[in-house]
Amino acid sequence: MPLDPKKRRPLTRPRERAQLPLTDKPRRGGQGVVVGMPRVGHGYDIHKLQPGGQLVLAGVVVSQEVSPVAHSDGDVVIHAIVDALLGAMGWGDIGEMFPDTDPRWKGAASRLFIEEVYPKVRAAGYRLSNLDVTVLAERPRLAPLKAQMIASLAGMFGLGGTINLKAATNEGCDAVGRGEAVAAHAVVLLAKAQD
Ligand SMILES: [Zn+2]
Repeated sequence: MPLDPKKRRPLTRPRERAQLPLTDKPRRGGQGVVVGMPRVGHGYDIHKLQPGGQLVLAGVVVSQEVSPVAHSDGDVVIHAIVDALLGAMGWGDIGEMFPDTDPRWKGAASRLFIEEVYPKVRAAGYRLSNLDVTVLAERPRLAPLKAQMIASLAGMFGLGGTINLKAATNEGCDAVGRGEAVAAHAVVLLAKAQD
């Protein structure tokens, strides 16, 4: 609780506390202490499915019966996360950073996109505070694979940050509900950190 500098009493009234200057200075030392204003970003992706090949979500092979129509491996979870990271930093979107006209990304494992973007986020002084993903797929049932997908994502971000993943169907609605597509939403919160 901040103290009134003159009277040394806690500033309890909202109006008083709102008048305190915003500061980016850390209040406590230590590794990775979060300071300054956090940044939030949202990402969404959808890919059509075709028979044959394999479906990769969050870096985990979840089906050997269908595959996404995509330039890279079509991992909607990672694509949504990368868009959320780019959005949080104000860096545009995945299509601008990894154009599908670039042969480097043809058939690429999408974890490469996180391995390319997250170090840039870190270099800018931010760290993952938390990541929340919702993946929508009618088939296969993803619930038994959730822990594996979360572990896979945690491996891409290294230590720190909370990662949550929710797997749902689209209740039979639209292309996702008919099993013709998979989609994902991601929200990230990045916090300024001190090394
Ligand atoms: Zn995509």
